[in-house]
Amino acid sequence: MRPSPRAADHLIERASVPRERRLAAFGPPGLIRRAQSLGCEDRAGTGVATPPMEGHRVPEAATRRRTVPLPQGSIELAWAALTDVGRRREVNQDAVFAEYPLFVVADGMGGHIGGEIASSSTVNRLEAIVGSGSVNPKTIEKALAKAVKDIASHPEATDDGTGTTVTGVFLELTGDEPHWVSLNIGDSRVYLLRDDTLVQITTDHSVVQELVAAGRLSPEEAEHHPYGNVITRAVGPSDSVRPDYIRLDVLDGDRFVVCSDGLTKELTDYGIQHFLREHEDPADAAAAMMDAALENGGRDNVTVIVLNVTRTD
Ligand code: CA
Repeated sequence: MRPSPRAADHLIERASVPRERRLAAFGPPGLIRRAQSLGCEDRAGTGVATPPMEGHRVPEAATRRRTVPLPQGSIELAWAALTDVGRRREVNQDAVFAEYPLFVVADGMGGHIGGEIASSSTVNRLEAIVGSGSVNPKTIEKALAKAVKDIASHPEATDDGTGTTVTGVFLELTGDEPHWVSLNIGDSRVYLLRDDTLVQITTDHSVVQELVAAGRLSPEEAEHHPYGNVITRAVGPSDSVRPDYIRLDVLDGDRFVVCSDGLTKELTDYGIQHFLREHEDPADAAAAMMDAALENGGRDNVTVIVLNVTRTD
């Protein structure tokens, strides 16, 4: 029998981010996170401690489209994906894959280049199942198991804490009625804007989420909690590769946001909703969120996918 590992063995500490407060410096009130960790002084006393944006090339997004015929009507998808190293980190350990029918982000962690290996192995293995034309929980879990082997056998990813989140949605056409299925391991997130209300679909696998669920921490306290960077599950050598899945019906007008915590550290849920409302086009919405996250400090790698759904009968 396998010995039961201590709880602490399951905790994956991300590179810790020092936390200090400053005034919100960007956008309408309430859109951005107030807990900041910019590490530079507010010399002018304006409350704006972020260095100028010059020199940081913000990536460009392009909206891609796909029509999925149904026995009756069709589903039209339009999406855009962006990832950026941010303004504090040396390397981008996030990876993103957005090709019909799978839209995922992976946020890697681990010493040296372990985090990049973990996230890129994971999206590469998932890309392969999209290429083979069969995306379902079984093929996803097989792909993740292969990614874990890639990570474990990589000579430069030997650190115990090496792993990655994996989070996203895929369109499932089997059965009578098409469905979206969200998948999640870790603390990247899927949001859905439906009927003009933004809902977080996934539940974070994090220490603070567990404390919130247990009623021991308010969501406000969670934002500033010292364990804010500690996740309880990851795609990595010491974990199960079975994501949490949630099935959702496919409704006209739905808009998904899939993102790493680098976005949600800088933008509130209200901010995400605001930028979706402001920008119908996925590339415009993704770019606006990315700009806001970078403008607000870009303390971590930032990745965002925006996916619009149109359904006709
Ligand atoms: Ca991150």
